[in-house]
Amino acid sequence: MTVEAAKETRGFETEAKQLLQLMIHSLYSNKEIFLRELVSNASDAADKLRFEALKKPDLYEGNTDLKIRVEFDKEAKTITISDNGIGMSREEVIENLGTIAKSGTAAFLQSLSGDEKKDAQLIGQFGVGFYSAFIVADKVEVLTRRAGKNIEDGVHWESAGEAEYSIENVEKKERGTTIILHLNKDQEEFADGWRLRSIIKKYSDHISIPVVMKKEQYGEEEKDKEPEDETINTATALWTRSRSDVSDEEYKEFYKHISHDFNEPLKWSHNRVEGKLDYTSLLYLPQKAPFDMYNRDAARGLKLYVQRTFIMDDAEQFLPLYLRFIKGVVDSNDLSLNVSREILQKDPNIDSMRTALTKRVLDMLEKMAKNDKENYQSFWKEFGEVLKEGPAEDYANKEKVAKLLRFASTLDDNEEQTHSLDEYIERMKEGQEKIYYVVAENHNTAKNSPHLEVFRKKGIEVLLLSNRVDDWLMGHLMEYDGKSFQDVGKGALDLGKLDTEEDKKEQEKVEKEFEDFISRVKEVLKDDVETVRVTHRLTESPACLVVGEHDMGAQMKRLLESAGQHVPESKPTIEINPHHPLVKKMDTEQDEDRFGDLAKVIFDQASLAEGGTLKDPASYVHRLNKLLLELSQ
Ligand code: ADP
Ligand code: MG
Repeated sequence: MTVEAAKETRGFETEAKQLLQLMIHSLYSNKEIFLRELVSNASDAADKLRFEALKKPDLYEGNTDLKIRVEFDKEAKTITISDNGIGMSREEVIENLGTIAKSGTAAFLQSLSGDEKKDAQLIGQFGVGFYSAFIVADKVEVLTRRAGKNIEDGVHWESAGEAEYSIENVEKKERGTTIILHLNKDQEEFADGWRLRSIIKKYSDHISIPVVMKKEQYGEEEKDKEPEDETINTATALWTRSRSDVSDEEYKEFYKHISHDFNEPLKWSHNRVEGKLDYTSLLYLPQKAPFDMYNRDAARGLKLYVQRTFIMDDAEQFLPLYLRFIKGVVDSNDLSLNVSREILQKDPNIDSMRTALTKRVLDMLEKMAKNDKENYQSFWKEFGEVLKEGPAEDYANKEKVAKLLRFASTLDDNEEQTHSLDEYIERMKEGQEKIYYVVAENHNTAKNSPHLEVFRKKGIEVLLLSNRVDDWLMGHLMEYDGKSFQDVGKGALDLGKLDTEEDKKEQEKVEKEFEDFISRVKEVLKDDVETVRVTHRLTESPACLVVGEHDMGAQMKRLLESAGQHVPESKPTIEINPHHPLVKKMDTEQDEDRFGDLAKVIFDQASLAEGGTLKDPASYVHRLNKLLLELSQ
């Protein structure tokens, strides 16, 4: 016996152990899914064998009849699930069943709340399928042999789901994996033919290879005969069936199988394309964002099949990055069976499939936005920020993506993003030509921005943007439905036809009156600002800062700076409200020192109101205190 083959006992990786315990507790109310998970793994194993056998037909070992067998023994209280798929080597058993290889496991465990229901959902997206065996079993044995290996290279793995497992090499004649569940005392009900059949039918009907059980035998005359096999599931690849033949339940269970997500999908779209290209796609919109959606290395993409043969998971080439939350299957009749990731990247047909699939997803979202507002809102909450990457990444679909965006607005008192651009345009005031918006660090700063004062006064709606990507998004959006966007914090205020002739005359008059005053302020702030001018956008604040029409917004600037990038220096313009009592008082101030202090304080305050930080906060405090003291004397 070689050292390799010796029996050894190993500890589970700490994280695996923790997950295992959590899993057992949180999925206890839905115990029967253990069978779904084990059948799902067996089906994946068959897919992998088919794929590897494309290049190495020997792996079939003379048997191409792939199936999954479920057996039970009422006396011994066991359930056995066997497959003749790819199987596992000793190293693979250790790697796959003893550790949790996914990155971010520790962070995931920390994010758990202790609330079992919520945690169960999270665990679901993590996909800890195999361990679900321990929900019903107090001992699990795995017997496996990798296809193509020698008979004596079989592996026996065994664990009680606590701290450790044992592993040793054994002989195994048939390739593939057999899993034996020794049921808990309270779970013996599962060792029952009727129960197992109904669970398989319910959760695993979509599995594309046969799931077989021995026919139940009744009556004396059948007693000594070897029982026949019976296939429990439909056993055809679900996506090859026509839409009208597939029930919602089947679509949902299939989603769980391919996505390893325990939650139900929110929506799906199933289509067959014939013509120049011939392929079937089944695309799902999940309910919950995965915890690693912003991790650049996280797996994404579709499951690729070629003529019903599984080729690869996570084929990224079929959808753009901003739709990375979509799960699903694409089955092509044109691609060659030995297609690789490299080939996918170069194949021009993939580009046209990608264009078509992108459109499918956007259409599905558009339809949902129109007909199923509640679910759309829940989609937006989970994935809105990712979709906002769309206009920058996908120029061709800019308008389509823009239609799907949702914003917070000055119409509401809350920060919910519920308003579409179409709705905004419908509500535009007579004479209004632009879509107005403000971008700030957070919702409150946006909502309370002094730039909104004139819009409030005139009853003009402004969209309130405060997500990290918003400045960047708006930089790419430019216009929608022929209307341009206007950041209310950028450039000179131009309300176009929203200002009457009278308004304009009045404004010119005030500007004349304040010419001297403006020159005095310019003298004080000449190093800090681009220019000083009278404002017509303020009603309550004494002043506000405005950035140049083509300068970078404050949010974008902070974003780049926090990423360690050098941002070119650009000075803001200060606009001063001539109707404000403080400004009126300043206008009569004879003492130039005091005037200077007031001007600087007003400038710093305007910067604070934007959510900015002061270059010299100590001087600001000093000046303000000086003025306060004078006030109280
Ligand atoms: P997932 O299916 O999400 O990868 P599981 O916990 O269900 O996670 O399974 C872990 C891994 O164990 C699988 O990815 C696979 O590599 C391996 N595995 C499980 N069951 C089988 C099986 N029946 N045949 C071959 N490999 C298996
Ligand atoms: Mg699994």
